[in-house]
Amino acid sequence: MIKCYNFDIVCQEIPDQITLALNISGCPHQCVGCHSPWLWRDEGVPLDDHFLSLLIEKYSSGITCVCFMGGDQAPRKIDALAAYIRQNHPDLKIGWYSGFESIPSDIRIENFDYIKVGPYIAEKGGLRSATTNQKFYIVGKDGSLTQYRFPPKNCF
Ligand code: SF4
Repeated sequence: MIKCYNFDIVCQEIPDQITLALNISGCPHQCVGCHSPWLWRDEGVPLDDHFLSLLIEKYSSGITCVCFMGGDQAPRKIDALAAYIRQNHPDLKIGWYSGFESIPSDIRIENFDYIKVGPYIAEKGGLRSATTNQKFYIVGKDGSLTQYRFPPKNCF
């Protein structure tokens, strides 16, 4: 079972979207220099369809996107939750921030509009670094992937 450690409404993780970002605990990657090592622990509220619906209904007037931040211990569960949003909240975009090197082959990519992959490697930097190993993709309706490059941080 995956758990939601906490959540926030954010504007910079997904371009041009106001995003309900769900921070999922139990991250298996343990990257050196991790920005959120508390997410390594298995703590929080079980993240299921019911809890997801409650959150979406509470914040629906102010969000355009839901993004799963983590959940790599159970990609198929993330995929199932994304499918639930797709079916029940078709106006919302859906994102996934994963620490995997590449997109897992056992998810249905059409359940997502945005997918970020790549562990955090301190010397390469995050998504706004010119040397980053991480990749952020916009998923087309046909399942195509277009890489999006975030502007450097000092542009904001
Ligand atoms: S994938 Fe993200 S949350 Fe997990 S250890 Fe790496 S930086 Fe931390």
